[in-house]
Amino acid sequence: MADILVLGAGVSGLTTALSLADAGFTLRVVADRLPPDTTSAVAGAIWGPYVVSDDRVIDWSMRTWRRLREFSEHSGSGVRLLSGVEAATEEVSPPGWVHEVDGFALVGPGDLPAGYVGGWRYRAPAVEMVTYLGYLTKRLADRGVTVELIDPVNKVEELFSLSSIVVNCAGLGSRELVPDSTLRGIRGQLVVIDNPGLTEFFSDYPESSVPTYIVPQGDYVVLGGTIVQNDETLAPDLRAAEEIRARCAGVVPTRLESAVANAEIRAIRVGLRPARPRVRLEAVEFDDGVVVHNYGHGGSGITMSWGCADDARGLVQQIVG
Ligand SMILES: Cc1cc2nc3c(=O)[nH]c(=O)nc-3n(C[C@H](O)[C@H](O)[C@H](O)COP(=O)(O)OP(=O)(O)OC[C@H]3O[C@@H](n4cnc5c(N)ncnc54)[C@H](O)[C@@H]3O)c2cc1C
Repeated sequence: MADILVLGAGVSGLTTALSLADAGFTLRVVADRLPPDTTSAVAGAIWGPYVVSDDRVIDWSMRTWRRLREFSEHSGSGVRLLSGVEAATEEVSPPGWVHEVDGFALVGPGDLPAGYVGGWRYRAPAVEMVTYLGYLTKRLADRGVTVELIDPVNKVEELFSLSSIVVNCAGLGSRELVPDSTLRGIRGQLVVIDNPGLTEFFSDYPESSVPTYIVPQGDYVVLGGTIVQNDETLAPDLRAAEEIRARCAGVVPTRLESAVANAEIRAIRVGLRPARPRVRLEAVEFDDGVVVHNYGHGGSGITMSWGCADDARGLVQQIVG
């Protein structure tokens, strides 16, 4: 089978590479940042369609939910199925997809934090990203696939000297590489504290520019977050971090409120969600080769990773016949 080059070692590149390797392709992954230094490593991360607008999102997300559930049974994958609650301060209906995931149940105001009038419980994969990206890299290595650090690529077509089929999973880097002027970075910030005893995720609903969400990751907890348009700076904002911690303290069980409110901030994570009006998942032909694009996943790159990766692999299979 043809040799393929995958550009990008974030969740999109590694997942697409694994989907291709499992289908029997030989390939390499190249990137100017390795897995722990990617945007993907910044994410909280919890499964859930978020900061993305595209009619294909739910299908990709549900396919990923099922794959991540399988991984949650593999020790060392970094994936765990967590129960938790999404809650709203106004009367709203739950999104349609909650009926398709495990453990769905409506929750009344008596079982919600103060100020919330309705909510729903379900189970979602929580992903410890550095562990998960390492796990994907290890699975690739087991299949003979290398993940190589290279200098930044200026134009995606430059890579045709290495392979006539390039799968572009460069995230926000695609803005210059492709180029794609519709792509922009939506700034997000998270706070990491020691886990005072939280076992469930929490997320407010619907999406807003000051979201409140909590993802327990074993001995630490990720508190979120921010959604900031037109700001691609990566310096941590301490004031925003303190606001996040205060908002999250307001939604944890009362016995843990002061532990969260006074918790030492262990780390502040900042990243840029690679957003565009629609995820770009298509093949484009050039004189010297074909590029299969898989980028622009906004705030749902982990959530949609397997659905998108398997569709990108399908495009490659069509190209090679
Ligand atoms: C604060 C925050 C929280 C988030 N939380 C969640 C969450 O809970 N759930 C969820 O589903 N999603 C979440 N997201 C979104 C998710 O992180 C992204 O959608 C996802 O990481 C994008 O992955 P990617 O592989 O496409 O891009 P990246 O992770 O950015 O990887 C891009 C790769 O391409 C390479 N590359 C780029 N340009 C070049 C170039 N010119 N030359 C060579 N290599 C290049 C890079 O080196 C890198 O290896 C969050 C994002 C942020 C910022």
